[in-house]
Amino acid sequence: MHDESGRGVAMTKHAVVIAGGGPTGLMLAGELALARVDVAIVERRESQDLEGLRAGGLYIRTIEVLDQRGIADRFISQGQVFRSAPFARGTLDISDIPARHNYYLGLWQHRTERILADWVSELGVPIYRRSEVTGFAQDDTGVDVELSGGRSFMARQAASYRNNRVLLAGDAAHVHSPMGGQGLNIGVQDAVNLGWKLAQVVHGTSPESLLDTYHAERHPVGARVLRNTMALTALDRSDDRIEALRGMMSELMQRDAPRQQYVAMMSGVDINYDLGEGHPLLGRRMPDLDVVTTDSPQRVFALLHDARPVFLNLGEPGAFDITPWADRVRRVDARYAGAWELPVLGAVAAPTAVLIRPDGYVAWVGEGTDQGLGDALTTWFGPPTAPTGS
Ligand SMILES: Cc1cc2nc3c(=O)[nH]c(=O)nc-3n(C[C@H](O)[C@H](O)[C@H](O)COP(=O)(O)OP(=O)(O)OC[C@H]3O[C@@H](n4cnc5c(N)ncnc54)[C@H](O)[C@@H]3O)c2cc1C
Repeated sequence: MHDESGRGVAMTKHAVVIAGGGPTGLMLAGELALARVDVAIVERRESQDLEGLRAGGLYIRTIEVLDQRGIADRFISQGQVFRSAPFARGTLDISDIPARHNYYLGLWQHRTERILADWVSELGVPIYRRSEVTGFAQDDTGVDVELSGGRSFMARQAASYRNNRVLLAGDAAHVHSPMGGQGLNIGVQDAVNLGWKLAQVVHGTSPESLLDTYHAERHPVGARVLRNTMALTALDRSDDRIEALRGMMSELMQRDAPRQQYVAMMSGVDINYDLGEGHPLLGRRMPDLDVVTTDSPQRVFALLHDARPVFLNLGEPGAFDITPWADRVRRVDARYAGAWELPVLGAVAAPTAVLIRPDGYVAWVGEGTDQGLGDALTTWFGPPTAPTGS
């Protein structure tokens, strides 16, 4: 790594360098550190202090991804719970979304960042402050990062979230109006989608092509937020026609179905990554069920604290053999007798097993057989390990 005069600086080599320790960069650093990747943040700000208030809080899915890492309570204890979300100068009830954290957590961005920075520092990630990335050059072996002053800002969505070894996330990938309050939220979720994939590629357990799924999954989410913010900005205008439209939309939102669809979308709990045809859970977030494992009652999100994939067997104990992936995928036998209820979709059939990615999305659903399980394990977590002695 070089500063603007071409001098090498102290942080010469890291497996991953994150330009910017805002909410997205901090979350990504935490994810990579949990996966034991040597990661550093380069941040031009002197401290975590922020000018202005910026993001006002966290939507459901963001609280959930923090809960998946065991740190949601740090945010909840400093925030304020609202059972409704803003819409067209009014609010919409959010409390009937089937999720443990079915509320909007009011928490100013400087607090969110400080909590994330503390977490990242506990995980031992170095943050090089007062350093600005001004350019980079990459080749097949790595990326040379240049540092100095300078600044640029644009409103846009990047065409591609990946340029070989350089990946974009958060506001670097999509910048839009703050209307609807989603920028920080989707930035943190970008980081959680990217972190485990990048870690596996760095460790050599997965091919680089796994990184393309980051763009494929998160670009449509960013595009949808851009569309929402444009629509909400238009709805906020003050003229007679827009006022009429606002009235019509608000009336429509009095009905449960459109309201639930809208708040689930704003909360990020309706995200459905395209992982092919199959059970409705496939590609959707795993609900935070209260299961009973062979040891004790357990929340599913607690199984994800170390950011490793989980194979949750809810059928016969010992059913399904995932031994060739046992070094990467944690296997848990558990029982669950309750309902499976997904936001917007409602009740879905109970699966016999689920393969959960570290970001909490379901990569495979068992409906009585192990059909497709080996392929899903290989696609997401790398090829099987050959048995020892073979
Ligand atoms: C007025 C306002 C209100 C908002 N309200 C909401 C809201 O209610 N809800 C919501 O979710 N979002 C909201 N947002 C958006 C939210 O603030 C951003 O989406 C969020 O900060 C994005 O996080 P990030 O980490 O991707 O980027 P940033 O927060 O911009 O962090 C990037 C970091 O990188 C550093 N940096 C930048 N360039 C370099 C470089 N070249 N070298 C080194 N360091 C660099 C910066 O100093 C910064 O610390 C609002 C934004 C504004 C402006």
